[in-house]
This record gives sequence, C-alpha cells and structure tokens, in this order.
Amino acid sequence: PQPLPEVGAAVKAADRAHVFHSWSAQELIDPLAVAGAEGSYFWDYDGKRYLDFTSGLVYTNIGYQHPKVVAAIQEQAARLTTFAPAFAIEARSEAARLIAERTPGDLDKIFFTNGGADAVEHAVRMARLHTGRAKVLSAYRSYHGGTQQAVNLTGDPRRWASDTASHGVVHFWAPFLYRSRFYAETEEQECARALEHLETTIAFEGPATIAAIVLETIPGTAGIMIPPPGYLAGVREICDRHGILFVLDEVMAGFGRTGDWFAADLFGVVPDLMTFAKGVNSGYVPLGGVAISGAVAETFARRPYPGGLTYSGHPLACAAAVATINVMAEEGVVENAKRLGASVVEPALRELAARHPSVGEVRGVGMFWALELVRDRETREPLVPYNATGEANGPMAAFAAAAKKHGVWPFVNMNRTHVVPPCNVSEAELKEGLAGLDAALGVADEYTV
Ligand code: PLP
Repeated sequence: PQPLPEVGAAVKAADRAHVFHSWSAQELIDPLAVAGAEGSYFWDYDGKRYLDFTSGLVYTNIGYQHPKVVAAIQEQAARLTTFAPAFAIEARSEAARLIAERTPGDLDKIFFTNGGADAVEHAVRMARLHTGRAKVLSAYRSYHGGTQQAVNLTGDPRRWASDTASHGVVHFWAPFLYRSRFYAETEEQECARALEHLETTIAFEGPATIAAIVLETIPGTAGIMIPPPGYLAGVREICDRHGILFVLDEVMAGFGRTGDWFAADLFGVVPDLMTFAKGVNSGYVPLGGVAISGAVAETFARRPYPGGLTYSGHPLACAAAVATINVMAEEGVVENAKRLGASVVEPALRELAARHPSVGEVRGVGMFWALELVRDRETREPLVPYNATGEANGPMAAFAAAAKKHGVWPFVNMNRTHVVPPCNVSEAELKEGLAGLDAALGVADEYTV
C-alpha cells in the first residue's frame, strides 16, 4: 500500500467533525483512518498493515474484497440494483434457497432483514404472535443487537441505558464453568445446574406467560462460552414441555465461524427460529434474517405477518450472499475454519496459556476463540474489572496497543481477547497473528500479581 498521509488526515478530520460513532464517548475515541483492505489484512494511510484478528466485528468470514463476491455485487448493480420486497427477484430467491438448504431441520422459510438486531426483533415478534404470550427469556452474558427489543434481551452493560422500555424480558444465567454461578466443578454439574436454574426461572415467571427463550448458540461478544454437552438439548426439551419457542441467535456464530455452517450443527439442536446476519455475505452489503420453522411459518400462512422492511431481501445484499455462500462451498472455507482451528489455533493458544500467567482460560472452536485474561490465575480475578473504563481499563488498553504495534488488530472486550480471524485465513497468517499475540500477552503479564 502506498502511503497517502494527507488523504488520511483529511479523512480523519471529516470523521472527527461529522461522524457520530457507535457505543462511544465521541471525544474520547481516535478512529484509525483505513485506506484499504484485502483478504485478512487492512492498512492505514501511512502504509501500516494490520492482520485483522477481529474479522471486522466478527463478520468478514471470507476476508475483505473477495474478487468473486465483489464481481457478483457489480454484476447485480448493473442488472438490478434494487427492487421492492413484495416481488420475486432472482438474487433474493436464490439466497433464500441457499440459506434454507443449510439451516438445520425444517427452518426452510427466510425473512430477510438489514442486519442482526432487526432479525432478533422479528424473531421475537413472530414468537409472541405464534404463542400468544408476551415474555421472553434471555441470558446474562449475551449480545443480541442495538435496537430496543434486541438490546433489552442483551445481557451486558450496553443494555442498561435502554432498560426503561424493557417489556417482558427476563434474564437468566446460562452455563459458564470458569465463572460458574452454580458452584459447579465439572461441565456435567454446570449443565445440570444451569438447566435446573432455567426450570426454576420458568416456574416462577409462569410457563404460560413465556413466548420464547432466546440464546446465542455460542455466546460471542460475551466471551465465546461453548455450552456443555446436553445444555442446548436440555433447553430444547424444556421449551417443548412448556410450549415455549426456542430462538437461536446465530448472527455471530453462524456461517462457518465455528467450523460448521451453523453452531447449532455442533450440538444437533434444531430451534424454532434462527437469526443470522454478518457471515451470510461477509457483511459486504448489510443483510440479516430469520430462518423460520414449518410450524411458525404455518401461523402466518393465512394471516398476514405484521412486519416488514423497505429493503427486505435487497438484491445487492442477496447477490452478495449467493456469491459468498458459493465461495464458501467451493473454497472449503467452513472446513478450513474447522481444520486450522483444531490443528493450529487451539494448540498455539494452549501453548501461550502455559507460558503467560495473564491467560486464565482458553476456549473456543473453529475460528471462534477467547482468551480470558486475569490478574491472578488462582483467584481468576479478571485483568480489568467488569465494564472498566479509562484508567481502570489500562491493562487491556496496553495489551491492545502492543498487539497493534506488532501488526495484529485484536478483538478486545472487557478482560478478554478473542481470536476471530476470517474463516479462510491461512496457516501462515495465523502463525503471524499468534506471534503478535504472544508479544502482546507479555505486556498483559506485567499486570498479573
Ligand atoms: N446478535 C449477535 C449474536 C451479535 O453478535 C450481533 C452483533 O454483534 C447482533 C445480534 C446484532 O447484529 P447487528 O449489529 O447486525 O444489528
């Protein structure tokens, strides 16, 4: 990449003057001006290149600027850039067919949205109308999106400011052995006690008042906690017993991230509704959706579904989805995530954990890994307090700065770093990124007891 510092300065100046950024105190941020990106890398206007260990916001599952997907978007733009949602359009039909072919069980109808949050909004609306019930249960340590209902379902601090309109949402604890709420010492105990806790929550809320349980199949931003064997099947059974719909949010975990097309495939569980976005087209054009089971689709077979979007199934977004899914199938991207996740990432992270006292736990699957950073391995005290800002977040900021210095852009959330590169990342790129991580963990180690 050719350095163009003056252009970068102008881009940055206009950003600082006029762009209002997500989730941020506007004057306390310093966004990097990005000049371009390709594959697993992006670069700034000074020509400094970074290996993207974040896949954007965990969505560029095929990396940046895949030529086949770029070409498909260009072709669709030349042919039919946009068309209203009430019509049958080739790109939309084909995207729905390719998605339905891959979703588990009888999730065969696809409602398209603009992204993940509105997919969650619609899944909840469908569940409420299907069951005639109002309440929705979701987990602490979760993220479901930034719109009103989706953020109310969210189990992290981003919800707090919007809790004023939190109608009918009840949070419960899902399993997480490393920081167990249940005094469990084994995955088996954790699973049994988390299911018992869910049963009790349902009993005290009133089973007949609950429309849906919404869970990320594997919670993403909240920490990549792989549910213990039997947990999701247990939730499925509880839902069936009480006539509650099971909604799995696969916005982050879906489309190859875990080394399967969907994380639900890992557990053999079929939800009633499944949300997706991000990896469906690597985020090249905004797209999300809800995959709908036969029974829920039947509810709206002769009764109108009261919901829609101007851009539902936008042709450009759908053409990008068709090309992305085809690329993933042709290039073995899902298999690559599974293979290199097991053969390169997992052993390397376990080896880093053995050498760095700041690593409390390593967990994950495919290209979906978290390192829990701690001050003290014995007590498991997090490297920074929950929801830390400013000085209190210093150790994580120092860790992130060190990774960037070594050319790796890290995913950082609270006291964790996630290793979530594109699913088509190469072995050499992984090794380069893991070496940068190794150096940055050396900085994190300085804050341990
Ligand atoms: N659900 C999950 C599991 C997510 O990870 C996200 C985004 O990170 C969302 C929903 C919201 O998606 P979007 O930002 O596209 O609205």
